[in-house]
Amino acid sequence: MHRLSLRRWALVPLLLLLGACPALAQPTALVGPTALNPADSTVIEDATVVLKDDRIAAVGPSSDVTVPDDATVHEMPNKYVMPGLIDGHVHFFQSGGLYTRPDVLDLRAKRPYAEELRRIKERLPDTFRRYLRSGVTSVVDVGGPMWNLDVRARADTTAMAPTVAVAGPLISSVERPSLDEGDPPILQITTPEAARKEVREQIIAGVDLVKIWYIVRQGETPADYRPVVEATIDEAHNAGIRVAVHATELETARAAVEAGADVLVHSVFDKPVDDAFVRLLRENDVLYIPTLMVRERYRETFVQQLDLTTAEHRLGQKDVIASLFDLRTLPDPLVPPELRQRIQQAPETPSDTVAMRNLKRLHDAGIPIAAGTDAGNIGTPHGPALFREFELMRTAGLAPQEILATATAGGARLLGRDDLGQLKPGM
Ligand SMILES: [Zn+2]
Repeated sequence: MHRLSLRRWALVPLLLLLGACPALAQPTALVGPTALNPADSTVIEDATVVLKDDRIAAVGPSSDVTVPDDATVHEMPNKYVMPGLIDGHVHFFQSGGLYTRPDVLDLRAKRPYAEELRRIKERLPDTFRRYLRSGVTSVVDVGGPMWNLDVRARADTTAMAPTVAVAGPLISSVERPSLDEGDPPILQITTPEAARKEVREQIIAGVDLVKIWYIVRQGETPADYRPVVEATIDEAHNAGIRVAVHATELETARAAVEAGADVLVHSVFDKPVDDAFVRLLRENDVLYIPTLMVRERYRETFVQQLDLTTAEHRLGQKDVIASLFDLRTLPDPLVPPELRQRIQQAPETPSDTVAMRNLKRLHDAGIPIAAGTDAGNIGTPHGPALFREFELMRTAGLAPQEILATATAGGARLLGRDDLGQLKPGM
């Protein structure tokens, strides 16, 4: 079958079903499921969905929708149909395993970074399939090496792959030499002129988004790097490309939005957001991606108290997940002593309560939210991670329908696609 049809409508049970269809030249009717459109909280029990030419031709109560005479009919009374999920924050250059960020935890003596990258590239088709099996039909790679563009090209030409949008290397205030194997994912750029040049090159190469890593080190203020941030955003906007910014402290995030950021790719987690910040996001129509789980998973891995979900055990890459527990068995000289001590002391891992409260506050204020996991980082596996993110969003106080809206219509907004994320005719 044509792969676009998979991307547009599929959930896991539906995927399996549609995967068995030879073609969609003739209409297909899904009869009897409960149809959900989280964007407007529509729930239709005993629905009929008619698919034709890779699009939804009709959706509604079975009593109102006429099934075309030539349609292939699938009776599915005990299933749900909803738009495919969208993970708005992933990184394909990272595996999710223990050896994937030598700048955070240097275990290159155990596994050279080039070897880690080789494995990641080799398993890309498998990684793509794990997203689909998890019901995730679109992902946004928010920054990585220039070979991110090859990842997108491979996804575009692979039948079993999600829709992929990509950013190129992060324009960063700090350097990460341990990640440089000739095509670095993070570029330290210190002048506005260099930033403009890099942005122009990335746009010519075909990135969907530009990403800034706005890291403020001790002794610095957000103002120090702001000229580079402003130049980057200005240059990208001149070409009609949006800019996503990693800015996790309130004052850095404020500076990023004042400088024109379109997307904040993480929560603000150091302080509660204030009224002026909420207003600023609203006035600038900023999209907010909370990524609540990624910091939790770093902490849990580093104290060896990982609590992966059933979905992650079932749908995640087994060897990647197994590597997360290697900290217990690696020879002593390889593991930094502070980490060894933390593992022995096994402190409770606190939850990001400030980030959760900020999410609730911004959501209640009507700020658009897109769900994202930061999958690929240590402890956050590709594919099923969104389900843990959903649990944390629920703990933050969002209702299930609202959470699903962030992972469907919210994600479509991030992708800039008005033909994705809703269960409606024409989608
Ligand atoms: Zn990220």
